[in-house]
Amino acid sequence: MTTRSEVDRFWSHVVKGPEADDCWFWTGAISDDGYGRFWVRRELGQQAVRPQRYAYELATGEPLPPSTLLLHSCDIPMCVHASVNLDVSHVAPGTHRENMLDRAQRSRYRNRHTLRLGLLSRQGRVQRSLDLRAVILDHGWQPELISAALLAVETTHPRLF
Ligand SMILES: [Zn+2]
Repeated sequence: MTTRSEVDRFWSHVVKGPEADDCWFWTGAISDDGYGRFWVRRELGQQAVRPQRYAYELATGEPLPPSTLLLHSCDIPMCVHASVNLDVSHVAPGTHRENMLDRAQRSRYRNRHTLRLGLLSRQGRVQRSLDLRAVILDHGWQPELISAALLAVETTHPRLF
């Protein structure tokens, strides 16, 4: 099961923003769908898990059923900001979808970002995750650079509206 050193290793790959509602970015391995990947050792051997699910399970202390989808209110696949308090958490089970969409609208408005993950191609999503990780690993938490990385990919893809 989850060990102390595994948990430490997990957080060593996460960079948290200074504000309470900032994202916490995964900076470890990235899958070919733009989401993170964290390797853990389990009974059956090495296994890749989703960092946002791992973070959510750590926060709640309970395993998430494989069929339960986690949604991001911030629309950033690399974010692992999970909390039992769903007013704070950036990820929540799909059953809270309405609330999440609501909050997503508000937070886009507040942040001036108009991130619309659904409009990004898979390749665009991967590129955005790679760019974001590079910026954070090179410069730490720099809001301007993070915004630029998030928006750069979007503007290179045609808008659908
Ligand atoms: Zn987030």
